[in-house]
Amino acid sequence: MRAQPRASHFIDGAPVEDREGAAFDVIYPATGEVIARLHEATPAIVGRALASAERAQRGWARLRPVERGRILRRAADILRERNRDLSVLETLDTGKPLQETLVADAASGADALEYFAGLAPAVTGETVPLGRDFVYTLREPLGVCVGIGAWNYPIQIACWKAAPALALGNAMVFKPSETTPLSALKLAEILHEAGLPAGLFNVVQGRGAVGASLVGDPRVAKVSLTGSVPTGRRVYAMAAEGMRYATMELGGKSPLIVFDDADLDSAVGAAMLGNFYSAGQVCSNGTRVFVHRAVKDAFLQRLKERSERIVLGDPLDEATQMGPLVSAAQRDKVMGHIARARAEGARLVTGGGRAGHEGGFFVHPTVFADVTDGMTLAREEVFGPVMAVFDFATEDEVIARANATEFGLAAGVFTADLARAHRIVAALQAGTCWINAYNLTPVEAPFGGAKMSGVGRENSKAAVEHYTQVKSVYVGLGPVEAPY
Ligand code: NAD
Repeated sequence: MRAQPRASHFIDGAPVEDREGAAFDVIYPATGEVIARLHEATPAIVGRALASAERAQRGWARLRPVERGRILRRAADILRERNRDLSVLETLDTGKPLQETLVADAASGADALEYFAGLAPAVTGETVPLGRDFVYTLREPLGVCVGIGAWNYPIQIACWKAAPALALGNAMVFKPSETTPLSALKLAEILHEAGLPAGLFNVVQGRGAVGASLVGDPRVAKVSLTGSVPTGRRVYAMAAEGMRYATMELGGKSPLIVFDDADLDSAVGAAMLGNFYSAGQVCSNGTRVFVHRAVKDAFLQRLKERSERIVLGDPLDEATQMGPLVSAAQRDKVMGHIARARAEGARLVTGGGRAGHEGGFFVHPTVFADVTDGMTLAREEVFGPVMAVFDFATEDEVIARANATEFGLAAGVFTADLARAHRIVAALQAGTCWINAYNLTPVEAPFGGAKMSGVGRENSKAAVEHYTQVKSVYVGLGPVEAPY
């Protein structure tokens, strides 16, 4: 098997195997080939991971932040040196084309490690003058944090959670998606090679039940999940039961609004990036594309031409622009959405079918026009290469329709009128908005959702709030005045 890791789990600085756990196969989505066979974590494995994290965290929290940062910085360098190997692994695990994984996955993870390595020493408390006395605050780590990942950006998600957690003095036990379990193990090896003490970043494998056993454990102080809204609801409720901190990065059905004065080629390019990158498996995708009536036909014509030129095929060939969906189940779910959109009266502009690559889970880039707000395609997250184009006439109308969803992850607007752009962004209910751009998520910017798309923010200085807690220390400088 061409991507078999040394062991399923990584605990206390070393690979750990335990054949007691149920076996599961890792599939290369482009061919259906089994590339690795792993075992789910048993309760004993979960217990070992949490115990070693708890042990290691105490000493780690006492280190100078600059020393913690130095180790993470070294890990960022190693990620960059090994970018090609890591990208090939990520491509085998996810099916995303190497053209993408070479620039978007380990590279983004390295950025997060580098950013939080630099930020950690600058995270300080404050002093509060009270006349004679004063208060000072300490920003302390939370303790043992649990990270749970989705399958679309496995190493990026692991790094976006581990980097702030570790930089700020916490330990992390990470459970990757059972669909894409491989790259988190490499990240664990690299962090330890860079000097991270054993126990601070442990990886355990398994399905939802393993995730739930982590979230419910009393040793856990915080849980950060990237996943769907239904899973988010369950995990957030469980975290609340134990009064644990929680960050929820969930799904979306984000609007991308194109006005009649927009640079149409840029808007078409952004709509394609925001629907077809990673075969559409991106949480912040602009899957509801609202195009002003005056430019709708021109927009659709260019979109159709460009979409039909997208090169599908072997993801390991760097000329390939789109790979398969991550699994047969996801392919079938996407095909179900396509069939339903047709049945509900949306007009198919291009695509709409499975692509004929032997054994792989490919779907052609698909565009529907004349989509109306009540259709299933307008309301549910597809998580595949399926774009829905709507038309609109006025600014007020499009804002109301853009916001008429339970989700609030992201939104975009294309217009040459700067005042209008800012006015619209102010009215949109979304955690991240783009003006004349789409889906760019640099580590310097906060990322997260409004409404059902989640709570908390990842990346940027905002993440400090979610991986530390404040301790207030009152300092009395005079005699205590007691009435008795
Ligand atoms: P999912 O919700 O099925 O699973 C996510 C993770 O949660 C997996 O590791 C899974 O094993 C685990 N899990 C499932 N049930 C659990 C439980 N009861 N307790 C603890 N853990 C549990 O999501 P997915 O299909 O892997 O990923 C796709 C979804 O993720 C989409 O909805 C997408 O929008 C979302 N996503 C969001 C972001 C973001 O940053 N907002 C990024 C990527 C993906």
